[in-house]
Amino acid sequence: MQKRPEEKPRIMAPEPALRIIMRGLREIMSDKADGQSRLDRIVHQIAGVMVAEVCSIYLKRRDGSLELYASEGLKPEAVHKTRLNRNEGLVGRCAEQALPINEPDASSHPAFSYRPETGEEAYHSMLAVPVMRSSKVVGVLVIQNHTRREYPEEDVEVLQSTAMVVAELLASGGVAGSEADIELQRAGSAVIKAQKLADGIALGHAVLHEPRIVVTNLLAEDSTVELARLEAALSRLRRGIDDMLSNERLSAAGEHHDVLEAYRMFAHDRGWEHRLRGAVHDGLTADAAVERVQNATRAKMLRQIDPYWAERLRDLDDLSDRLLRILAGRADQHGHLENLPDDTILIARTMGPAELLDYDRTKLRGLVVEDGSTQSHVAIVAKALGIAAIGQAHRIVEHVSDGEAVIVDSEAGVVHLRPTSDVIAAFQDKVRFRAKRQERFHSLRNLPSVTRDGKRVSLMLNAGMLVDIPHLEESGAEGIGLFRTELQFMLAERLPRLNRQIQAYKSVIEQAKGHRVIFRTLDVGGDKVLPYLHRMPEENPAMGWRAIRMSLDQPALFRTQIRALLRAHCGRPLSLMVPMLTAASEMDDIRELIDKEMEHARRHAHPLPASMSIGAMLEVPSLLFELDKVMEKTDFISIGSNDLLQFLFATDRTSGQVARRYDVLSHAPLRALISVFEAGRRNNVPVTVCGEMAGTPIEAMALVGLGCSSLSMAASSIGPVKAMVRSLPAGVLARELPGWIEDDSVDVRAALTQFATDHDVEI
Ligand code: PEP
Ligand code: MG
Repeated sequence: MQKRPEEKPRIMAPEPALRIIMRGLREIMSDKADGQSRLDRIVHQIAGVMVAEVCSIYLKRRDGSLELYASEGLKPEAVHKTRLNRNEGLVGRCAEQALPINEPDASSHPAFSYRPETGEEAYHSMLAVPVMRSSKVVGVLVIQNHTRREYPEEDVEVLQSTAMVVAELLASGGVAGSEADIELQRAGSAVIKAQKLADGIALGHAVLHEPRIVVTNLLAEDSTVELARLEAALSRLRRGIDDMLSNERLSAAGEHHDVLEAYRMFAHDRGWEHRLRGAVHDGLTADAAVERVQNATRAKMLRQIDPYWAERLRDLDDLSDRLLRILAGRADQHGHLENLPDDTILIARTMGPAELLDYDRTKLRGLVVEDGSTQSHVAIVAKALGIAAIGQAHRIVEHVSDGEAVIVDSEAGVVHLRPTSDVIAAFQDKVRFRAKRQERFHSLRNLPSVTRDGKRVSLMLNAGMLVDIPHLEESGAEGIGLFRTELQFMLAERLPRLNRQIQAYKSVIEQAKGHRVIFRTLDVGGDKVLPYLHRMPEENPAMGWRAIRMSLDQPALFRTQIRALLRAHCGRPLSLMVPMLTAASEMDDIRELIDKEMEHARRHAHPLPASMSIGAMLEVPSLLFELDKVMEKTDFISIGSNDLLQFLFATDRTSGQVARRYDVLSHAPLRALISVFEAGRRNNVPVTVCGEMAGTPIEAMALVGLGCSSLSMAASSIGPVKAMVRSLPAGVLARELPGWIEDDSVDVRAALTQFATDHDVEI
């Protein structure tokens, strides 16, 4: 190699070093040569322009090690011989952390790995940058010099930009040869532990909800044009965020607002803009400039341990993604709505229920989000659509690319990325097994829901959207035991007016084709937020201004809904129930409002429903001590076990950490339930259960054992619960169960499980 004296002036302005390197790289690529000779010329070229005595490229092999693929300055015999294990030496560390390493005295660094075949101990300073493509490290580009010095920031940036180009050349197959055992796009398999949002197993291919742009055009033909593109994209980005912030609907929603404020702050950040312009001045396209600055942010993100700042850097990362989409002309495109694969697994940082409904249901198999809880709205919609969904999948968006194979296993709460063929085969088996089970449940569809000893148990459906209604026929449910009307409100842009509500309820009634539908009046508040409804922030929203508390304080909202329900039911029987009743006396206030609406309908000569049945949900423990009084005032009771247990145990139902801590089948809740069923019999008032408990076979078995003859659940639970009912000797259980519940020393869940085994009950 030809040595360059240290004092030789660096070629900088007026022509930036990067541009010279880029020109050289273009020439190299246009010459006919094999991959290895091109790589050799590339390192030679970079070393020359950067006045480095050594320039080397290490490429990541499929086993994770790094192989020296080309070098200017290190001993030639080391090329293809030197291999560094994962995380070995400074080069390995650079790859592992995806961070540049700038060391004035590399050979005395504790992490330095001495490889005699390279002869690199003679060089003190070292600058190593990761070669990355689509957020994955595929190699490391290194320069070294004799003298001890820290490389200036400009050198780091130039080498990073060069590494981006090298990554592109590698991906195009133009260097290193296609036979090389190196890892380019493909990272290995990975398993991410997360939380189930909606039941199911799905095999398919990733579609990023916010598509990540792969920048392939890196070198600017004309920097002035690129600067103009950057300016235009930045102002569009800023305008978009300003618009969102001034949008009244969103600015009312606290969390959204904070995120957008942070976005706005970053979008107007001068330092960010300065760095972007600097990269364009260096000869990059606007897109490549955004990517280079984004890579630097990512590097900082990885180093950041303060969660607050890590989150802010993530905002900035997200902003860069948006800017890239604007530059690529794909700003308005969500997850390529048009060309979805038939087995789409949607991957998103966050997703609202309405956004999910924008996708073609027939192509969706699964959903993975980085946030979300079982009770989140998107989870409710995913359940309704029947797709497997997983939440709390930490930073999954960074780990997966469009089109990669993904398996969502919400039974186990894991996501498999790029699964190997044997994992795929195992899951295909599992899916076949589940399908068989489903088939069996399906075959029960038209059989009566009667216990082995002849007791009828009515099985109803929980629903909330029109897409739920076909499940009535498919599952063989008797009717809809809980229609969550708030979903229509949550999905709407603004408060649905009377006519819209009438239309919505009419469609439900028509599609239910004569099956009974119990409409629950608006249950908003708590975690169910209507973004257009202004409300005071609350410390404890689950116990705050929600459900009928809101209805009673703001009767106009409630009365409009009742008016819509009355009008939609003209000449038909209407069943409605109110959520979160806390005191029996509230039922009088509710009835008074309903009476007013009946009166209004009569005055305006609107035909009335053929009959009306008004129920109350038992969700607040205080009602347990007023059972006779509340039953006097209601036509039926529906136990909302999700809320009832949350308040009985003082255990937040949305918190994964505590939600499973207390057993539904333990003495306290079962004793409470006994008192409700007894009161129902005493007062001749039907009692149903419509919380999650009703849809779990063993828990449903306990309810039937306590005398409950009506259960309402998600469509997917109807089959398994019917199988349990049809195999249950209810009378035998009814005789034994009260004794277990009375006896503090009995583990009731264990006793029920044993009973199921002894009597061949399918649970
Ligand atoms: C319940 O609380 O059990 C219930 C069915 O209502 P929701 O889940 O909608 O709060
Ligand atoms: Mg509830």
